[in-house]
Amino acid sequence: MSIFLGVDIGGSSIKYGIVSLDYKLLAEGSIQTQDNQETADQITENLIEACLDLLADNHYQKEDVMAMGVGVPGTIINKTGIYEFTGNLPFHHYPLREKLSKTFKCPIYFGNDANLASLAESRIGAGQGAMNSVTLTLGTGMGAGVILNDRVYSGFNETGCEFGHIVMQIDGIPCTCGRKGCFESYVSATALIRQTKEAIKDNPESLLAQEAKEEKISGRTAFNAWRKHCPIGTKVVMNYTKYLAIGIANVINSYMPEVVIIGGGISNEGQDLIDLCQEDAINQSFIHGDVAKPQIVLATLGNKAGTLGAALFADDCLKDGLKY
Ligand SMILES: [Zn+2]
Repeated sequence: MSIFLGVDIGGSSIKYGIVSLDYKLLAEGSIQTQDNQETADQITENLIEACLDLLADNHYQKEDVMAMGVGVPGTIINKTGIYEFTGNLPFHHYPLREKLSKTFKCPIYFGNDANLASLAESRIGAGQGAMNSVTLTLGTGMGAGVILNDRVYSGFNETGCEFGHIVMQIDGIPCTCGRKGCFESYVSATALIRQTKEAIKDNPESLLAQEAKEEKISGRTAFNAWRKHCPIGTKVVMNYTKYLAIGIANVINSYMPEVVIIGGGISNEGQDLIDLCQEDAINQSFIHGDVAKPQIVLATLGNKAGTLGAALFADDCLKDGLKY
């Protein structure tokens, strides 16, 4: 029976799954990448072995795999199959398709992890029914993916739509990309933790500071204090959601998608997060008169979005007749 194999390579773990032709995750697994102790070849070999084990455990042959999709952090070029660059893993100009093809004879397709996760959210997750969507993932960094006409859009060289790196503040907070004042530097979980720590330092007697004593400071800390009506926690959350709303408005003004989907760790704040930035984002968008407005919604697929998106992308590439 034909299936897809979806792979989601991450900085600390690799997730992979068997996906049916109607996009159900039939079986899944994950392996750790060991603190940058491994070479690119070792990681690739471990991945191949793990995928073969998962297939065997579920009574599939590798010949049953109709196509394989692989999402990766950083820059990979689907056309060449070369993994050009990533910050956290030892892949530099690495011929990933060539290596995987020695074992898997099916077509193998590649994309940026945020783009492929966005495809899954758009087509079978929170954006179901929408032809155009943008997904923003608020995690350690800020991932972004754009779906136009139900297809991943990533620019002519497959590296575009990096909304995390549009500047929101001239000479602002330094970003990992080398610019200053990037969107990511204000709305990632890392950014919220930084803002929370700064507020605690300035207000050691606040309820926010008390919250932080009870558990390790995380993206949740300021939101918890806000829910308890702490003025300092409220200030942090209002500032955070102000930047988020401005960024969402920028995204809306650029693409006017039917839905903006918010995922990643911070989206665990749930509908509160949407309620805090929705009105502001829509009001700041270039929408005038009696025209339809985009929806801002929470992602629904969680950490399965990457694996499912990789399989969906492989199916798209097959349907589009891409032969690599
Ligand atoms: Zn940046």
